[in-house]
Amino acid sequence: MKSLWKRMAGGMEKTRNRLANGIEDLIKRRPKLDDSFYEELEELLIVSDVGPQLSEELVQTVRERARQERVQDGEQLTALLGRVIIELLGGPSNGDSCIPKPNPESLHVISVIGVNGVGKTTTIGKLALRYQAEGHRPLIVASDTFRAAASEQLEVWGQRAGVEIVKSQSGADPGSVAFDGIQAARSRHATVVFVDTAGRLQTNANLMGELQKIHRVLDKAHPGAPHEVLLVLDAVVGQNGLSQAQSFRDAVGVTGLVLTKLDGSARGGSILPIRRKLGTPVQWIGIGEGINDLEPFEPEAFVEALLKPTGAAIP
Ligand code: GDP
Repeated sequence: MKSLWKRMAGGMEKTRNRLANGIEDLIKRRPKLDDSFYEELEELLIVSDVGPQLSEELVQTVRERARQERVQDGEQLTALLGRVIIELLGGPSNGDSCIPKPNPESLHVISVIGVNGVGKTTTIGKLALRYQAEGHRPLIVASDTFRAAASEQLEVWGQRAGVEIVKSQSGADPGSVAFDGIQAARSRHATVVFVDTAGRLQTNANLMGELQKIHRVLDKAHPGAPHEVLLVLDAVVGQNGLSQAQSFRDAVGVTGLVLTKLDGSARGGSILPIRRKLGTPVQWIGIGEGINDLEPFEPEAFVEALLKPTGAAIP
């Protein structure tokens, strides 16, 4: 089995090519840590989708700390940049994941939200398989009754993961499907329920209202539910999806982020401003279209995958 770092580094090759190789080249060209070095470092962060404001802030912090810690060369500086980014992401994980561990004795409900096309369905399939492998009994509830293809697609993923799904006629009330889903989960002794939700309605207000309603119904059917609200974001869209993400967060609250398509994009850096602006931890990352292409997000592994040049030896 490949190490987490290897899998993440493989998935994030495009991001790494841009940022890590760019820094390596910068260090060779400008061995002195002067104004021009820091200017170019800031530009590299900006083109890696860290965003102008955060790039400036990071470089200022790194520059100040480099002075205090008497950092002499580019390699030490890269390591320092890595530490600063880990702090921004919520500090070292010390092996502890920020992902909640559902109690196998009770029903844990996870609502999965995000606009269409970001990878919600795929992520639910991947997560269901993962939870199943960890000994849980997952159930998938297809509450996106607005998109005809949504529940069929979900069914395909359910079959791939070997997980049952609860669905209804297209056009049925999403809230009643959510309610039925909880009843079904009880009678089938499921321990983890994934609720797929709509990603687009006529207006943003309708969409947010619908999600709030589903969450109210879930809470009625099973007090305390949903226990997790995962917002799925597409790394290719990067920061352009931020304002939509903020409306989801404001309307229903978000407990964790899933960033998908990190394999296909050079925009892995966008995790940083997204994490900062939403103030919500990134819990999972999607690094491919296959059912196993999901990893828990770990700041240290992410920073290595971001900053270690492509040519560097993989431990
Ligand atoms: P939904 O509309 O949000 O449910 O999105 P889907 O789950 O249907 O995914 C939309 C597209 O994104 C599909 O073609 C998926 O194969 C693709 N996709 C989802 N996650 C990933 C990922 O981590 N990496 C890549 N490369 N593609 C992904």
